[in-house]
Amino acid sequence: MKAAVFKGPGNLTLDERDIPAIRDEEVLVKVHAAAICGTDLKIHRGGHFRVGEGDTVVLGHELAGEIVKVGSHVSGWSVGQRVSVVPNIGCGKCDMCRRGLNNMCPDYDAFGINVDGGFQQYMVVTAAALYGGNLFEIPKTMDYEAATLVEPLSCCFNGWKDLHVTPEDRVLVLGTGPIAGFFLQLAKAYGAKQVIVVGRRDSRLEEIAGLGATDTVNSCKVDVVDEIMRLTGGAGVDVALTCAPAPELQVQAMALLARYGRMNFFSGLNKGTIVEIDTNKVHYWGLKLLGSTGSSIEDYARSLRLVESGQIDVTQVVTHRFAMNRAVDAFDHALAGKGMKTLVLPQEEAA
Ligand SMILES: [Zn+2]
Ligand SMILES: [Zn+2]
Repeated sequence: MKAAVFKGPGNLTLDERDIPAIRDEEVLVKVHAAAICGTDLKIHRGGHFRVGEGDTVVLGHELAGEIVKVGSHVSGWSVGQRVSVVPNIGCGKCDMCRRGLNNMCPDYDAFGINVDGGFQQYMVVTAAALYGGNLFEIPKTMDYEAATLVEPLSCCFNGWKDLHVTPEDRVLVLGTGPIAGFFLQLAKAYGAKQVIVVGRRDSRLEEIAGLGATDTVNSCKVDVVDEIMRLTGGAGVDVALTCAPAPELQVQAMALLARYGRMNFFSGLNKGTIVEIDTNKVHYWGLKLLGSTGSSIEDYARSLRLVESGQIDVTQVVTHRFAMNRAVDAFDHALAGKGMKTLVLPQEEAA
C-alpha cells in the first residue's frame, strides 16, 4: 500500500509499505479520505514535541474510512462499518481524562502525530483508541469527506460552546481559513444577528462570506478597528474568534470587544510570542477571555450530530482533492497557502 511518511522537518515521502498487520485487540481501517490541517503543515515545517528525532510517522488526524479487519478480541465492531476517529487518545488515568477531557491529557497519543494517521491506504486503530471511545461509526447519510471534516469542526465546537452565542450577539471572525469558515457556519446556525469576517484578500473574503458572514472587512484596505466600530454602530462585538496565528489579530479582537464580551484565542501563536492585553478592560468590562485546543469525545459526538442534521455543511470549505499518489503534491499545495481545505483520497490513483 501507499503511505505518505513524515521523516523530519521538510521531509515527506510517498512510500510503498505492507498493509499493516493488526493485533487481536485492534481494527484495520481502509482510509477513504483524509484532510490536511494547519497542524500537519506545522509538523511538516518544524516537527512536533511528540515526534522524536529520527522517528517517522504517517501524518493525518482528520480521516474517515471503512473497517476491513477486526481483531479476534474486539467486540462491537465489524467489517464494512464506516468510521471516523477522534485523534487524541488520552492516557485514561489522569485528572483530565477522568473528566472526559481526552484533549487536555498531558500524556496523550494521537493519530497523525505519534500514531500512524490518515495519509495512507490502511490504518490501524489501536486498542487504546478503541477502549478510549475514539472510534465512531458515521451515519449512513454522511459521506467520507464530510465525516473527515467533523474533526476540525469538533475543535471549533469545543471553543464555541463556552462562548454561549445567542441571536443577540455580534460575532467577529478574524481569518479566512477553513476554521474561520466553520465558525461562520456555527454563528449562522446559532442565529447570531451580525457576523463579521476579517481577511487580507478580497477573493478569499468573497469565497468565505457565503458561509454565514453579514459583513466582510479587508484588513489591507481599511483600519480594522475603525471599520468594525462603524459596522457595529460604535458598539463593538460581543464575541470574537482569532483564527490565524497572528498576534495583531488578538490585539484587534481585544480592542473590539464590547462590554461583557467573550473571545476565544483559537489559533496558537509561534512559541514564545507574548501579546500585551489591557487587563483593566477585562476587569471593568467583565470580559471573558477563553482558549481551547483539540476536542473531547463529547465535542466530537455533538459535532457529528450538527453535520448529520445538516445544520453545518463541512464540505463547503473543501477546495482541492488529490489522489494518493499525489499526496506529497497535496502538501506542497497546502504549504503554499493555496485554497482552503485540501483532501487526500487514499483509494484514488491519478494518471
Ligand atoms: Zn486538525
Ligand atoms: Zn490522561
